[in-house]
Amino acid sequence: MGVRNLFSTLLDQTREFLHMPQVSVPSVGEYLRKEIAQQVKEWTDDDETKWLKLAILNTYFKLECCVSGTHSMDHVALGPFGEYAMLPGLDCTFPGGYGGLPDCMLTSLPKESVLFHKPVMVVRWGGSYREESQEGRTFPVQVECEDGERFLADHVIITVPLGFLKEHHETFIDPPLPPRKADAIRQLGFGTNNKIFLEFEQPFWPPDCQLIEVVWEDESPLVEAGTDLQASWFRKLIVFLVLQPPERYGHVLCGFIAGKESEYMETLSDAAVLRALTDVIHKLTGNPHLAPPKKVMRSQWHSAPYTRGSYSYVAVGSSGDDIDALAQPLPEDALLQVLFAGEATHRTFYSTTHGALLSGWREADRLLSLYDTSESHQHKPRL
Ligand SMILES: Cc1cc2nc3c(=O)[nH]c(=O)nc-3n(C[C@H](O)[C@H](O)[C@H](O)COP(=O)(O)OP(=O)(O)OC[C@H]3O[C@@H](n4cnc5c(N)ncnc54)[C@H](O)[C@@H]3O)c2cc1C
Repeated sequence: MGVRNLFSTLLDQTREFLHMPQVSVPSVGEYLRKEIAQQVKEWTDDDETKWLKLAILNTYFKLECCVSGTHSMDHVALGPFGEYAMLPGLDCTFPGGYGGLPDCMLTSLPKESVLFHKPVMVVRWGGSYREESQEGRTFPVQVECEDGERFLADHVIITVPLGFLKEHHETFIDPPLPPRKADAIRQLGFGTNNKIFLEFEQPFWPPDCQLIEVVWEDESPLVEAGTDLQASWFRKLIVFLVLQPPERYGHVLCGFIAGKESEYMETLSDAAVLRALTDVIHKLTGNPHLAPPKKVMRSQWHSAPYTRGSYSYVAVGSSGDDIDALAQPLPEDALLQVLFAGEATHRTFYSTTHGALLSGWREADRLLSLYDTSESHQHKPRL
């Protein structure tokens, strides 16, 4: 079996533990390493080939860290891993960029009904707030923005990232969340995956090349990785996607890097990132004279104060029940004052755009059902 097939077969096996009462090891990473250690004993290759195969497997571990948005697959819980679902069909890339999705949604809303650059400082619920101009009418929820402006509401849907909630939930929601929800926020995982774009004057890759995978020959999943971020952060960058078509984008590679190394990268200057990745490309191509990229651009999701990472995963010690607990509206009866949406609240599509979108529809439907109780108009949940 080829190395790629071996890894995907083992990864498929990790999904079979769903609903099992017990798992032999807590994390996806530990399971994969245990199985690989078993397999290696049966390999009949010479030592050099064995090491190369292990080095390639290590690349796939790092790739999986990007997919799960985690530092290490040892942080990703094995039991619930099979609950994550792939949306059938091809990946959809928005022609004008990701902004095309919200732009499209905005077209159906009245102008100026969405406020930008308006960070919320606190959501107060369970109260009785009265608007000066609206005598007699009270609202249970008050939203106070960082600029001091306040809004009263019957309902709010909170869609801030789990990373933001991890850092601020104790002050962001008042009165504080019930213990079950606060525990879910603490226990679920929220890591970092960043993109680094490198633009070249001329491509060094062949015209039909779509993907460049980086393998460090001295690495193995069975050997503990070094922890010196300064000396080796760039080794975590594991794949370069070639942006197509070049007529539209120029000669651009998009690298992916996850985990603590990615967070360290965010602290460096553009020039330092460009220097380190130029060295990587010189090693990769065996050509120390290759011209460096003319431009670098990257995301910095961990440093972004309203994000604090990329997306959620089900960490060791948590389960899909934590996702459902996070999605549970407040208060815990039928009053629906504070509702929760966003990717981290979708039990099977967490970490994705479609998960975020569906969770928003779910909460919209929940509110619609509250007001539209007649059987003939009963709103059917979309998913
Ligand atoms: C590198 C990378 C690659 C990805 N690739 C894919 C992919 O290929 N396919 C896919 O489906 N998904 C992908 N995703 C994941 C996808 O982008 C997210 O799952 C999705 O954006 C989550 O949407 P959301 O609405 O839950 O959260 P977000 O998009 O994070 O939106 C939350 C919003 O809340 C705002 N906010 C935070 N705090 C406050 C506050 N106090 N007041 C007001 N606003 C606040 C934030 O500024 C932000 O705009 C990728 C993500 C990353 C980082």
